[in-house]
Amino acid sequence: VTISNGENLNHGGASNDEEAPDKFSPAEASLLAKVIRKGLVVNKNDIEIQRKDPKSPLYSVKSFEALNLNPNLLKGVYELGFNAPSKIQETALPTLLADPPQNLIAQSQSGTGKTAAFVLAMLSRVDATKKHPQVLCLSPTYELAIQTGEVAAHMAKFCPEIEMKFAVRGEEVGRGAKLSEHIIIGTPGKVLDWSLKYRVFDLKQISVFVLDEADVMIAQQGHQDQCIKIHKNLAEPCQMMFFSATYDQEVMEFAEHIVKNPITIRLKREEESLDNIEQYYVKCGNQQEKYNAVLNIYGTVGVGQAIIFCHTRRTAAWLSEKMSKEGNAVAVLSGDLTVEQRINVLDRFRQGTEKVLITTNVLSRGIDVEQVTIVVNFDLPIDVHGKADCDTYLHRIGRTGRFGKRGIAINLIDSPESMNICQSIERHFNRKIKYLNAEDSDEIE
Ligand code: ADP
Repeated sequence: VTISNGENLNHGGASNDEEAPDKFSPAEASLLAKVIRKGLVVNKNDIEIQRKDPKSPLYSVKSFEALNLNPNLLKGVYELGFNAPSKIQETALPTLLADPPQNLIAQSQSGTGKTAAFVLAMLSRVDATKKHPQVLCLSPTYELAIQTGEVAAHMAKFCPEIEMKFAVRGEEVGRGAKLSEHIIIGTPGKVLDWSLKYRVFDLKQISVFVLDEADVMIAQQGHQDQCIKIHKNLAEPCQMMFFSATYDQEVMEFAEHIVKNPITIRLKREEESLDNIEQYYVKCGNQQEKYNAVLNIYGTVGVGQAIIFCHTRRTAAWLSEKMSKEGNAVAVLSGDLTVEQRINVLDRFRQGTEKVLITTNVLSRGIDVEQVTIVVNFDLPIDVHGKADCDTYLHRIGRTGRFGKRGIAINLIDSPESMNICQSIERHFNRKIKYLNAEDSDEIE
C-alpha cells in the first residue's frame, strides 16, 4: 500500500512518541478488528427497533431464501459460508430490500454482520442494464473501502454483470470521462472530487447511499462535512443506509441529518463482566520489582496464556527485552507496528507460539483469545487526567458471556497514586481486589 495523502491510515502507528500513552486511531482499530476477526460475533441481546410509525409492519427473516434474492446472489452468499442471517441481518435485510425502499440506521458492534448486510443490499439494488453509478458507499479510509469492496466482489462472484469502482487514492479518472460502473465504493474526498469537481458521475442518479462506519467517519478530520456535502447533492428518492458500531450522541445527530424517516435498529454490545475473574494487587517498590513480580507470575502460568498491559511503548519494549533476554518467548503488540505485523503477532499468540503477549493500550477491547487466563496490569489504566480509567480496566480484564471461563487479573502497584487508582477501580465495580504477596505466588487460586 502506498501512502500519498492525508486520507490514509498511518501505518506506522498513531505517533512516534514512545513515552506517550499508546493508542490506535478509531480507523486503525476498526481495520485491525476486521482483519483479525475469525467470524461472526454472536450476541445474545435482543434487537431494539425504533420507527416513526409503529403500526407499519416490520419483517424479519430466518433464512436467506426468504429474501427472494437473485439466485446468483444467493449462491454468492452461500459461497461465503453463510448459512443463516446473523441477528442484525434478520431485521436489517428485509428493510434494506423492501419495496418501496426504506431508510435504515443500524448500530451494532463490529463483527455482527453489518457489512455483509449492506453489501448484499447494494448488490441486489443494482440494475445492471443501466450503465452508470447507482449505488454509492462511503467508507472512512482507503483500507476500509478496500475491505468492503472485497466482500462485495466475493458476494458478486456469480454476478459478473455487476461492475464496481473504487473512488480512493491511487484511482484516477480522465477529465470528461463518464463512469459506467454500477457501484462506487470510496472515501468522501475522492467521491466529492469525482462527482462535483470532475463530474465523472452524477450524484442525482444514485438510488442507494451507504454510510459505513459512521462513528469512525466522524473521527476523521473533515469527513463529516464532506459526507454532508455529498448527501446534499443526492436526489429524492434515494435510499439511505447508515451503519455504526457505536451509539453516542454525535453519531446520532449525524445519522438524523443524513437519514430521514428511518427505521433504527440497534443491537447492544454484550457487556463484559468481572464475574468470573479473581482480582489481585501486588505491591512493588519500583519498575524492577514489577518485573520480578511478572517473572514470578509467569513462572506459575502453567496452562493458558497471559497478557501484560503497559502504559507506554517504552515500558512495553523494556519489559519484553528483559524477558526475552532471559529466554522467555514473549510477543509484543504496540502502535509502532504495521497492520501486517500486528496481525502476525496476534495470529502467533492465538496459536500459542508465545505464551505471553505484552501490549500497550492499542487493543484495549477485543483481544478475544480464549486461552488467556491471566491478565497483568503492569501499569493500571488511567485517563488523560491521571484518574482511574474503569472502562479500559473492564475491557482489559472482563469477559463477555461467550467466554464464561474463569480468569485472573493482577495489578502491579508501585506508588501511592497507583494504589489510589486500584482502590477507585475496586469501589467502581464493587468487587474485591485482594492483596497478593508476589514472593508467594502459590496464593493464586
Ligand atoms: P460488521 O460489518 O458488523 O463488522 P461483518 O459483516 O464484517 O460485520 O461480519 C463479520 C464476520 O462475520 C465476517 O467475517 C463475515 O464474513 C461473517 N459473517 C457475516 N454475516 C454472516 C452470516 N450470516 N453467517 C456467517 N458469517 C457471517
